Amino acid sequence: MKIGIIGAGILGLAVAREMARTGAEVTVLDKEAEVAAHQTGHNSGVVHAGIYYTPGSLKATLCRDGMAMLREYCFEHRLPYEEVGKLVIASTRAERDGLRRIADRARENGVPGIAELDALGLREIEPDAVGVGAVYSPHTAITDFRAVARRLAADVEETGGSVRLSHPVRALRETPGGVEVLAGTGRFRFDRVISCAGLGTDRVAAMAKAGGDVRIVPFRGEYYRLAETAKGMVRGLIYPVPDPRYPFLGVHLTRRIDGEVLVGPNAVLALALEGYSWREISLRDLRQILTWPGTRRMAATHWRTGVKEVYGSLARRAFLSAARRYVPALTAKDIVRTEGGVRAQAVARDGRLLDDFAIDAHGPIVLVRNAPSPAATSSLAIARHIALTVRLPGTS
Ligand SMILES: Cc1cc2nc3c(=O)[nH]c(=O)nc-3n(C[C@H](O)[C@H](O)[C@H](O)COP(=O)(O)OP(=O)(O)OC[C@H]3O[C@@H](n4cnc5c(N)ncnc54)[C@H](O)[C@@H]3O)c2cc1C
Repeated sequence: MKIGIIGAGILGLAVAREMARTGAEVTVLDKEAEVAAHQTGHNSGVVHAGIYYTPGSLKATLCRDGMAMLREYCFEHRLPYEEVGKLVIASTRAERDGLRRIADRARENGVPGIAELDALGLREIEPDAVGVGAVYSPHTAITDFRAVARRLAADVEETGGSVRLSHPVRALRETPGGVEVLAGTGRFRFDRVISCAGLGTDRVAAMAKAGGDVRIVPFRGEYYRLAETAKGMVRGLIYPVPDPRYPFLGVHLTRRIDGEVLVGPNAVLALALEGYSWREISLRDLRQILTWPGTRRMAATHWRTGVKEVYGSLARRAFLSAARRYVPALTAKDIVRTEGGVRAQAVARDGRLLDDFAIDAHGPIVLVRNAPSPAATSSLAIARHIALTVRLPGTS
């Protein structure tokens, strides 16, 4: 069986490795010159333990399984993996109910070691942090997802598969026996194609004539990092109590595997699918994003939050005050702007931000439609899920 995989992010590569292990002949195609060029290489690097997700959802089960699989994979391949632990901090009494719900949900999801801490208890974990209470997840970890992706690509090649970079997929055509793919200057024939194209998902879906009722809306996540002098103020991961209306977790403080501490990400609508800054604008992408009824409905419902996030993006002060809520000793000189990422978030026609992972099949083409955070954490489990449960036509 010849399988073509679109996207050499962590998901495409994990799927390719899983398929190659079952004896398939796999070819990964990516438009960029290196693996992990988009979301996989521009994120917080957190290996989530599965605290927040709706019990029974794909996110809840695949995050928990994916974390265990990733941990083992990192140990096996000597990739960075550090259990630095995570505090979700309530900074006001009003947030306490939300915190309790998180603790209940974490237990329901089988997250190990969850503890509820008071103001003093949380300072034993993070001496520079403040709050009225916290939920502590000691096994939440950090890794380098770019390094994991590189290792997965090496696995694929070692099992006889190939990873073709600088191969933008330009057209897909279903043929009686499978799918013909034009990528770069090459023409490929596959029995099945699996798309893990992240921000490029809608274009691939259009090529596959698989309209569907969701579209990708790019949400940029911007970060600051702590200056050398302030890094010592954060030992692990400090998160706010998330707003249950959004799939984003709110500006957090994250120790990275290289010792940097990130502050972010916020969530602002990007002006291009790969719009990593306000300067990057694509009229073609914008037309596509703004003509989707879901975008307009989402904007009508959430405009207040949107305005606040844009302000936070433009005003360093707003970003600092989000961080100071948890680590009050931080000052303006302690934060330095650093590179961010763009989330591929699926938005339904009615304006709903899709919460769960979404994968669907159109004849011989499987499309991953929504794979936002914690999809990097969950990648190995998502790959197994795709291999096991997406029934590819003609297979049993
Ligand atoms: C700011 C931010 C913070 C995050 N933090 C975390 C975190 O801490 N923990 C976590 O688990 N997850 C996190 N995530 C989510 C995580 O990064 C993604 O869920 C994950 O990387 C998705 O992987 P992917 O392979 O689907 O997408 P990507 O890594 O975006 O890969 C998609 C690939 O498809 C390629 N492609 C697109 N179109 C085409 C085409 N036409 N032809 C060929 N190639 C194409 C692109 O070049 C790209 O390489 C975060 C994401 C962001 C943006």
